[in-house]
Amino acid sequence: MSAEKGHNFLEEIIEKEINEGKFPNGIITRFPPEPNGYLHIGHAKSICLNFGLAQTYGGKTNLRFDDTNPTTEDTEYVESIKEDIKWLGFEWSKELYSSDYFETLYEYAVKLIKKGKAYVDDLSAEEIARLKGTPTEAGKPSPFRDRSVEENLDLFMRMRNAEFAEGEKVLRAKIDMASPNMHLRDPLMYRIKHASHHRTGNKWCIYPMYDFAHGQSDSIENITHSICTLEFEVHRPLYEWFIKELEIYPSRQFEFARLNLNYTVMSKRKLLQLVNEKHVNGWDDPRMPTISGLRRRGFTPASIRFFCDKIGVARRENIIDFGLLEFCVREDLNKTADRAMVVEDPVKLIINNYPEDKVEMMSGEIHPEEENSPVRMIPFSREILIEREDFMENPPKKYFRLSPGAMVRLKHAFIVKCTGFDKDNQGNITKIYGDYFPESRSGQDKSGLNAKGVLHWVSAAHAVPVELRLYDRLFKVENPNSGDEDFKTYLNPESLKIKQGFAEPELVKANLNNRYQFLRKGYFCLDKDSSPDKLIFNRTVTLKDSWKKD
Ligand code: ATP
Ligand code: MG
Repeated sequence: MSAEKGHNFLEEIIEKEINEGKFPNGIITRFPPEPNGYLHIGHAKSICLNFGLAQTYGGKTNLRFDDTNPTTEDTEYVESIKEDIKWLGFEWSKELYSSDYFETLYEYAVKLIKKGKAYVDDLSAEEIARLKGTPTEAGKPSPFRDRSVEENLDLFMRMRNAEFAEGEKVLRAKIDMASPNMHLRDPLMYRIKHASHHRTGNKWCIYPMYDFAHGQSDSIENITHSICTLEFEVHRPLYEWFIKELEIYPSRQFEFARLNLNYTVMSKRKLLQLVNEKHVNGWDDPRMPTISGLRRRGFTPASIRFFCDKIGVARRENIIDFGLLEFCVREDLNKTADRAMVVEDPVKLIINNYPEDKVEMMSGEIHPEEENSPVRMIPFSREILIEREDFMENPPKKYFRLSPGAMVRLKHAFIVKCTGFDKDNQGNITKIYGDYFPESRSGQDKSGLNAKGVLHWVSAAHAVPVELRLYDRLFKVENPNSGDEDFKTYLNPESLKIKQGFAEPELVKANLNNRYQFLRKGYFCLDKDSSPDKLIFNRTVTLKDSWKKD
């Protein structure tokens, strides 16, 4: 950690503890996803934080799948989560599953029953909720609260042995029905679910609640800093109560503010709806805020880590502008992306004085920011495609592109002067004509001419057709979660536009790892739907922020 860079509150806490001589063997953090969906950019914040702290202070981070809910979890999600964490550039110390602790958790529950700190309740979920009271009004004890230890042990074992239906019985901690903290009013520890689990199959029909699994799992793994989002702050007294009563390793919970981003949703339940109802093409649709979606869109691991670093870690909730994420990827791609030329809406430019059968290879820098940039070769010939919007018959003042009599430079090639054009019956420009100046070749220009405008182009005979997928924000409004309407009514119908373009031939070599800056158009990457006969590119982000509010 550099001294100039301010420490976040967790770094301050840990540094102080380390200075006091705690954790001589290093700290242990964990990232605990529930495998019920793909990871999103919010998870990336938690990943960078947990793995980052362990890296900074010489520790370890476990990847623990918090898989205590059999009905929503799946191995597909486990695999995607592992892939995403690796892609982000982090390595976990151990791969663990809460479900591996089911037997231990069961024994912990038995221990609490024996201490008179847990009981089996026959009340229905509705009755339990009703007797719980309100934050200002004490709850009432269940009539089953004072069952004997023997009866509780017997009933709990029979719950495990599948003698009861779902909802018929639960195990509750016996704490304080009058506590001002609702989470301490005899919270549920176990419920019955006759459901098959993605790892334990049909071995279990009772499953621990989050509160009776999470802290205990932390403790089993000797987690020193269990870091979670602020909504769990009210659970912390319960986290501590269980650890104290069970007399197990005292892991401690710390909370930070979750990442909120505008123009998107981040709840896995909502993302799953978008996928299932086909508003997007899968979890890795490039419009999704998922790690896999951002990866497919062309974001780099470095850009996401940079973003997480920039937003910082605090205890105050706020909403981050989506534009900041775009800024971060631009910063990275501007340095690393290969330059290439693609024309989106072409019109032909005929170079009158260029021989018909001649082709010259121009050299174009791939990384112009670097001192000795590598180059690629770009064919130049008599018929060139330029962008339709780069020509005007009657241009306004200070129009530096092409118009009758005007001169422009074709990037990496020659200066061309427009000598005329053709129009069809509807007034559309069909062809443009020009003369080129052989002396003006880029890099060896002896023409003495000065052309203000520089246009991108491709040679018509060599151009490769490409599909361009242009993405915009997934939602029309900043906060699709607020308001009375269903969040899906705010989907942006223009979030994907498909265009057909023409690329310089170099792009047939593109693979999924390449990142490009198409000159004047934006940053692009090859999409996995691409095939050798049909190249498809995703626009990661425009060159500049083009988003207009309202
Ligand atoms: P959801 O409520 O959408 O299902 P979750 O928070 O339950 O998401 P988990 O798989 O339980 O998802 O999350 C794993 C870890 O990632 C948790 O420690 C959680 O606090 C953290 N996390 C989830 N969302 C965010 C977010 N938006 N910002 C920061 N951390 C997050
Ligand atoms: Mg969760």
